[in-house]
Amino acid sequence: MEPFSWIKATDEAHAMSASAATGSQYIAGGTNLVDYMRLAVMRPAQVVDISALPLAAIEASGQGLMIGALVRNSDLAYHPEVAQKYAVLAEAILAGASPQIRNLATTGGNMLQRTRCPYFRDSSEPACNKRKPGSGCAAIGGFTRSHAILGTSQHCIASNPSDMNVAMAALDATVHITGPKGKRSVPFVDFHTLPGDHPERESVLEPGELITHVQLPAPLPRSHYLKVRDRASFAFALASAAVALDAGKTITAARVALGGVGTKPWRSKEAESVLVGAPPTLETFRKAAEAALAGAQPQPGNQFKVELAKRTLVRALAETAGGAK
Ligand code: SF4
Repeated sequence: MEPFSWIKATDEAHAMSASAATGSQYIAGGTNLVDYMRLAVMRPAQVVDISALPLAAIEASGQGLMIGALVRNSDLAYHPEVAQKYAVLAEAILAGASPQIRNLATTGGNMLQRTRCPYFRDSSEPACNKRKPGSGCAAIGGFTRSHAILGTSQHCIASNPSDMNVAMAALDATVHITGPKGKRSVPFVDFHTLPGDHPERESVLEPGELITHVQLPAPLPRSHYLKVRDRASFAFALASAAVALDAGKTITAARVALGGVGTKPWRSKEAESVLVGAPPTLETFRKAAEAALAGAQPQPGNQFKVELAKRTLVRALAETAGGAK
């Protein structure tokens, strides 16, 4: 790890002024950043520790939940309101990482979790547009089992690794941000950016900006997160689905997001259009899955994900609807 300076921020203004220094990086739980500093993938000249800021509360109201950016993943998953009313979020968080990591990782940090593309993680690999803009992409034509099939570009096909992000996308969350130019709010589905020509950019955050809260609206009656991976624990999703439904004889509201297959948490309005107004049957769910994956652009090494993602979504919808026939 290369030498760096460290500043403990005492409040938001202090954090933002400290972060103005060139090569500065915020740190909270450190479960992602420290990894990448050890691998020499990220080399901040200065780290601004924001862990003492008063952003670790979860506030419930009739309209939903306000989650501080520094709420630990474990605290969020086991919060009674989340466990009872936002099952998809609790299940997604508990499907990720290990208990030790979840005890340290924060909500804001999880949102900014960087890809596990093996070429990105290998600082000796010269071709990675995300790590070194303009250098190429070693994954395209390489080993692509973990890579995305939705939202890719000719410059990057890395998947977003976070389980929590998939649930947040399906919950219609809003991200609250503060920065040198003031406060703003962004729908969660617009927070992460597609790689396009600039895979080095992963979110709409501007230099110095801080995530302060994530807000969840009132939940739909039923929700569920289903993750398919190579082994039962401590593995990233090959495909996952976060779904929320309001359904009787017909589906009156549906929210669908996919993980493991998108370059960002992948909200599928196409699937939702198929679901709303239709009966909650397997036939409906299969049509929704076809719609969700219609735009997939797999590589030879991850073609299998198209069918896997469809089956994952059908099963998640069926389980959420209570065993549809
Ligand atoms: Fe880098 Fe993205 Fe290509 Fe992976 S997929 S090597 S992160 S540019």
